Amino acid sequence: MTFEDAKTRDAADSLAHCRERFRLPPGKIYLDGNSLGAMPASVPDRMAEVIDCEWGDDLIESWNKHDWMGAPERVAGRLAPLVGAEPDELLITDSTSINLFKLLGAALAARPKRSVILSEEGNFPSDLYVAQGMESFVRGSRLQTVPTDAIAASISDETAVVMLTHIDYRGGGRHDMKAINAAAHRAGALTLWDLSHSAGALAIDLDGDGCDLAVGCGYKYLNGGPGAPAFLFVARHLGGELSNPLPGWMGHAAPFAFDPEYRPCEGIGRFRTGTPSILGITALEAGLATFDGVFLTCLEAKSRSLSELFIGETERRCGGQVRLASPREPEARGSHVVFAHPHGYAVMRALIEAGVVGDFREPDLMRFGFAPLYNSHQDVWRAAEAIGRIIASGEWDQPRFHERRRVI
Ligand SMILES: *Cc1c(COP(=O)(O)O)cnc(C)c1O
Repeated sequence: MTFEDAKTRDAADSLAHCRERFRLPPGKIYLDGNSLGAMPASVPDRMAEVIDCEWGDDLIESWNKHDWMGAPERVAGRLAPLVGAEPDELLITDSTSINLFKLLGAALAARPKRSVILSEEGNFPSDLYVAQGMESFVRGSRLQTVPTDAIAASISDETAVVMLTHIDYRGGGRHDMKAINAAAHRAGALTLWDLSHSAGALAIDLDGDGCDLAVGCGYKYLNGGPGAPAFLFVARHLGGELSNPLPGWMGHAAPFAFDPEYRPCEGIGRFRTGTPSILGITALEAGLATFDGVFLTCLEAKSRSLSELFIGETERRCGGQVRLASPREPEARGSHVVFAHPHGYAVMRALIEAGVVGDFREPDLMRFGFAPLYNSHQDVWRAAEAIGRIIASGEWDQPRFHERRRVI
């Protein structure tokens, strides 16, 4: 494909106008929106307004006057169409790891005769740590991890909950949510999905696929800003059945009655614990607004178009010097692509210095994320060209590119 071909694809792209919704630094090709989404252009003004007018002028009255109190549910309403859920099945709160803890605890309590949390060996470590914490917290519970291809066969009448990340954070492999939900339900187990690497890039259908529980990250493809609040999902049919293992006053039926007995409110609000982070939710709301008018099918089609172009162009330029470490079939992947190179860390550092920003995962993986709202085919073509150039010239092999930094 020539650069002109990439331009032609961009000219025909129905999401091309969304790029203007972001502030993208000039001269940079940003392929790390799967780790930290780009900043929506509306964020500085919106944050300034909330800081000056709401926090600054109206102070505590803002909880009512500006509906700070309703923010976790209101902003969940914006997320609902992006994940195929009803607004009252979603809540914006806490971090992904904490939401995972809450929903794992709720799932174990809802299946008291079963003890196993089933997950896969390569799951995101934080998710496994949370499950390990749960093992010591809920007596008798046990985390069982199996290879990816053994998951379905490992669901048994001991399984309380199947906890998986939809898109693998490393290789980008994708689980068939519908099939795993069906297998879990046949065995009487619940499912808990982590959508951190899916929401905002793919056509997720939580209700249509029969998911029970889910969590996900606000700062990746949802563009909510560093450490943005995360979300949790509880299918409506489970709503009344599950309880929050980390209850707090914000989930009480009458928080300002200061009742010494906990009494959960009706609905998803019971999964609140403490006071919502208003500045964080404000930025996330702006992040979710970048999806206004976007159809999920277009989002996923663009993601595929970008990743296919990237794989083709990178392999054409690098030959056998890099190895595709993601599934080759687009329907088996998420929205990021990983190439292995024996000196992947140094190559990535050289690429970042050249203005192409991806990231690195041990042991040798260079990871490139494609955010369908703001990445273009021209970006992707140029990124592949830079990879080809840096590998062919050997310019990555300089001492400063080999030095490890704190966040990689
Ligand atoms: C990014 C990510 C998280 C992040 O969790 P935090 O609590 O926000 O640090 C969790 N799980 C997966 C699979 C992720 O990709």
